[in-house]
Amino acid sequence: MIPYGRQDINQADIDAVVKVLRSDFLTQGPVVPAFENAVAMHCGVRHAVAVNSATSALHIACLALGVGNGDLVWTSPITFVASANCARYCGAAVDFVDIDPLTYNMSVECLRSKLKGAQKIGKLPKVVIPVHLCGQSCDMAAIHELGQQYGFKIIEDASHAIGGTYRREPVGNCRFSDIAVFSFHPVKIITTGEGGMAVTNDDKLASHMARLRTHGITRDPAEMTHEPDGPWYYQQLELGLNYRLTDIHAALGLSQMKRLEEFVETRNQIANRYTKMLAHLPVTVQLQPLDVYSAFHLYVIRLRLPKTKKSHREVFEALRAAGFGVNLHYIPVYRQPYYAQMGFNPSHFPESERYYADAISIPMYSGITEDQQDRVVAALRKAIET
Ligand SMILES: *Cc1c(COP(=O)(O)O)cnc(C)c1O
Repeated sequence: MIPYGRQDINQADIDAVVKVLRSDFLTQGPVVPAFENAVAMHCGVRHAVAVNSATSALHIACLALGVGNGDLVWTSPITFVASANCARYCGAAVDFVDIDPLTYNMSVECLRSKLKGAQKIGKLPKVVIPVHLCGQSCDMAAIHELGQQYGFKIIEDASHAIGGTYRREPVGNCRFSDIAVFSFHPVKIITTGEGGMAVTNDDKLASHMARLRTHGITRDPAEMTHEPDGPWYYQQLELGLNYRLTDIHAALGLSQMKRLEEFVETRNQIANRYTKMLAHLPVTVQLQPLDVYSAFHLYVIRLRLPKTKKSHREVFEALRAAGFGVNLHYIPVYRQPYYAQMGFNPSHFPESERYYADAISIPMYSGITEDQQDRVVAALRKAIET
């Protein structure tokens, strides 16, 4: 089975991990800060806080922004459930903003009109979480402008997007957001096995997230309520978590960062090749805005139904049967039973519903060969035309 995505590990990655295994510190050693520094340098952002997953990063980002009971958080329905769950962990309610039919990212038009309505009834969101689907940045300048106008904070879910750019600057520089979050799951652009990172330019948010990742504990006398009792002393100031990344994982991440640009270039070449090959089939692909360089975590095609002989499900099943691990990113989050019971009406999200009815993620990862790509397209053509 050719998967939809997979990691790319070389000997240098393995050596870096083994070196940590032979060293004094498996966790809370020097490699985590080195990895944080490498990501911060790449992004051109002041602070980076490494954690054990992007889900954890989203959680502490919400906590640091003060999300709690009675608050509202908005995100895109076409995302992994973690983009919404982070608000629920904090006791906040979640709502969704429909997607743009061409980029599949949160629609700025829908956001604007939903904000207008929400203001009238006094139900504005505290935080909006745009998701850079497939690695393509959302229109962050426009979302940021709305944030200024309506007073919400912004967390970029950039789980797919490390190595991409927006307006010729790295995704994650937080020019148009408070915090951005990356995932290092093996299918993502770079990996640590499991892992994630939150980046920000705000000193207070950074130190608060660093504290939340380790039980809410501080060892900095400046943050304490009184002078330390002695050299052993630390204080727990609030209820935090153990979301730390280990040095073993960070070593893999630090090593992978050396190939980030190469990974993203390769993914763009693969994407361009797919786009050319698919031009004559009844499918559409994600519009690439001129001011965005996608990291291409995913390559999503949309079937131009009913121009295909088979249904969406039949095409999907035919590709799986032919040995291709195609997938559907994502089932609209409001359709998940956990969210559906909150009373969401799918007809309020017509573009997300259309997307769910015709989207398929085809294999995309840096190690896929041209021959494998050709076979994916041949299988797709056969599935569509017969
Ligand atoms: C993968 C992913 C996450 C969660 O990442 P983990 O590191 O697995 O916790 C969150 N949001 C999006 C959009 C993702 O794709």
